[in-house]
Amino acid sequence: MTTSVPPIRIPFEYLPRDGRFGSGPSKVRQEAVNELAEIASAYLGTSHRRPAVKERVALIRRGLLELFSAPSGYEVLLGNGGATAFWDAAAFSLISRRSQHLVFGEFSTKFGRAVAGTAHLEAPELIEAPPGTHPDPVVNPEVDVYALTHNETSTGVRMRVVRPDPDGLVVVDGTSAAGALRVDAGEFDVYYFSPQKAFGSDGGLWLAVCSPAAIARIDAIAGTGRSIPAFLSLKIALDNSRLEQTYNTPALATLYLLARQIDWLLDQGGLEWAADRVDRNAAVLFGWAEGAAYASPFVSDPAQRSPVTATIDFDQAVDAATVSAVLRANGILDTEAYRKLGRNQIRVALWPTVDLDDVEALTRSIDYVVEQLG
Ligand SMILES: *Cc1c(COP(=O)(O)O)cnc(C)c1O
Repeated sequence: MTTSVPPIRIPFEYLPRDGRFGSGPSKVRQEAVNELAEIASAYLGTSHRRPAVKERVALIRRGLLELFSAPSGYEVLLGNGGATAFWDAAAFSLISRRSQHLVFGEFSTKFGRAVAGTAHLEAPELIEAPPGTHPDPVVNPEVDVYALTHNETSTGVRMRVVRPDPDGLVVVDGTSAAGALRVDAGEFDVYYFSPQKAFGSDGGLWLAVCSPAAIARIDAIAGTGRSIPAFLSLKIALDNSRLEQTYNTPALATLYLLARQIDWLLDQGGLEWAADRVDRNAAVLFGWAEGAAYASPFVSDPAQRSPVTATIDFDQAVDAATVSAVLRANGILDTEAYRKLGRNQIRVALWPTVDLDDVEALTRSIDYVVEQLG
């Protein structure tokens, strides 16, 4: 399948200091890894029902409310299985009868499919848009959940989170946006994500910032007698989260790295700081793409262009997969396009952990590789 990679050596002075540009798992800060190693003997391999771990969970739950400036009454729930498991949990514990889904890429498609396969729900309303754009919600009194995606990681399209309707819960996949894009907590009822993207941790967990209306829905559905697998019950997740624990055993390293990253973001200046940093990284990358003869941003509307998962199309004359392969051979990792999108494209993640100097170095490295391939 793989053809041989052209033997191009990028000059050392062009290379970024850190070559991780992946859309998830993403760059983990080395300082956090070092701190984890230092405290490991009192933390890794200890009970998740005891203070060492529960204090971390409490820090995470409190820290996220602060980071998102959540109005009073909002609570953070967490559980195992990542955002993908949360889709199934939502089908059992958040949707009463019918949901509306904005479908504009791989991840939003998967949530719609998970709901479509759920016997106790009506067929979801799917509103689609071509890759590279996003659709808008349409008020429908028949639906009780509006499923939005803040940042469609597969195509590099972002949308603004705005409540379409005072009735109906607004349930937002914030997986690749949370901790990097601005969001007004008053505009959502549930904002859920996994920690291996902007939160620079590892995978395996889901977290959900929930409004009082969302919590009331979880309680109400639990009281209807609907048959809900325990692992997918948000009522069980709620009860455990309030005790600063998860229903079953979580990955302790993931919790630690997440707690450190939330602290780090808050210390730097919070969500506004993070969003500003990401915008600056994106301005460098998109500025370069607009200036380069062989590259252009895939998402044509700048307002829909993701500043965290930037997608850049290449001219036919330059094979993007070959460029990514040469970058990889030089230690610049994970710039490949999302496989199912099938475009001659690179995708570059610009999380708050990514340094501006490294984005500039990446553009120099790409120009060098393309020149050598020419
Ligand atoms: C990565 C991602 C997911 C899936 O997250 P998992 O932790 O692998 O379940 C879902 N939605 C979006 C928008 C993502 O970027």
